[in-house]
Amino acid sequence: MIPLSIKDLEFKRELAWYSMQDEQKAAASDFSVGYIDFLNKAKTERECVKELTAEAVKNGYVNFNDVISGKIKFEPGLKVYWINREKALMLAVLGSKSPVCGLNMVGAHVDAPRLDFRPNPLYEDHDMALVKTHYYGGIKKYQWVNVPLALHGVVCKKDGTKVIINIGEDANDPVFIINDLLPHLAYEQIEKKASDVITAEGMNLLIGSIPFASDDKEESKGVKANVLNLLNQKYGITERDFNFAEIEIVPALPARYIGLDKGMIGGYAQDDKVCAYTAFKAIIDMDKIPEKTCACYFSDREEVGSMGNTGARANWLENFFYELCNAYALANNDKIDAGVAARRSMASTAFLSADVTAAFDPNFSEVSEPMNTAYCGMGIAFEKYTGHRGKSGASEASCEFFTSIATVLDKAGIPWQLTEMGKIDKGGGGTIAQYMTDLGMDVIDCGTPVLGMHSPYEVTSMVDVYWTYKAYSEFFNKY
Ligand code: MN
Ligand code: MN
Repeated sequence: MIPLSIKDLEFKRELAWYSMQDEQKAAASDFSVGYIDFLNKAKTERECVKELTAEAVKNGYVNFNDVISGKIKFEPGLKVYWINREKALMLAVLGSKSPVCGLNMVGAHVDAPRLDFRPNPLYEDHDMALVKTHYYGGIKKYQWVNVPLALHGVVCKKDGTKVIINIGEDANDPVFIINDLLPHLAYEQIEKKASDVITAEGMNLLIGSIPFASDDKEESKGVKANVLNLLNQKYGITERDFNFAEIEIVPALPARYIGLDKGMIGGYAQDDKVCAYTAFKAIIDMDKIPEKTCACYFSDREEVGSMGNTGARANWLENFFYELCNAYALANNDKIDAGVAARRSMASTAFLSADVTAAFDPNFSEVSEPMNTAYCGMGIAFEKYTGHRGKSGASEASCEFFTSIATVLDKAGIPWQLTEMGKIDKGGGGTIAQYMTDLGMDVIDCGTPVLGMHSPYEVTSMVDVYWTYKAYSEFFNKY
């Protein structure tokens, strides 16, 4: 046995910048340009699915429904997309082996914390038009006041047509705001607990201030009437339509670089658009026919527990496996029952649960255990398990599976780090991982560390974004 030096025995992590070649630094910088553009174009789950599908179609992806119906034959190298109700998406590159051998899959979520219009939202109070909101996901409510906000969503009208709402992103658009109390009159407010400073019922969005002008004495006047009139002129909608609408209120802040060195990226909804974008680029950039089918799963409703027919707990995912195995069997005169094949396929699938994790923050160092936390700039972060209080409510990746993934990354020189979500008993978190393990898959969480997660303006390191992309790419090509 060759004696090892102490250096070879120890395991240390450092900033990825130190070991990166100039061309890697340039590649990371180039990658960030496309990422920032994506953050600005795709703030909601629907926009994300739309953007990614359009880009996939440009890259030769065909509708999986045409494979299911037999119009397009299942063959190795075929690239497919499958949309679930405009809010979840599957992309796959079919492999040369049967899907029964399992897939290499990366799953990210495309929803993000936000505020929604309530079903009956619009009212006026002392000549101001306001909208009642309901927050979605785990937010610190006080962070969402006095921030410029935009409206994104869809409204289905009585005549059966659907309109897309988007106000506040164009430089000429107005924005919206929820007002906080001025410090001069906040002597009582400032003494409250942070959770009570801004209440859910107090999060009412300012949407208008000019009254409706009409010569008709019978006609309703006031600022609310004027807002309804403006919305009707622009979109043809009426107050009734709010009952069914999905209008999301998101920060109207464009993503941009942070710091004099431009080493970080600030923007809304990087949880989990960063993993969605990097996973997407990884599958789009595949240039060889893989042995195992490779797939990207973009799910909705992760921020509220993945429930619902577009969430990761929905049978839609199992249906995908079933249809995939069925299409393969039909194309290859394989007699295996598609249900049995789908179960075997899921049980042999390797799944990277691509979600962000908390980055160490020097302003709040007390919540992190420095030896078991992720740092900005040290590469993609693995979380063997998530959960709360004694690993509760989460799955845990096996030693064998984790090391098999890490070894692939090591061979490619991709920097990675490991983390736990904060000190034990300080809090916790979860992802879609456990719903994939329920199906028998091998799963590990891995994604980009984020500062200020769930705030209106989250921060990532440019190199972590790049190495996350490279890690998913290596997983598809080499695992
Ligand atoms: Mn997330
Ligand atoms: Mn989240």
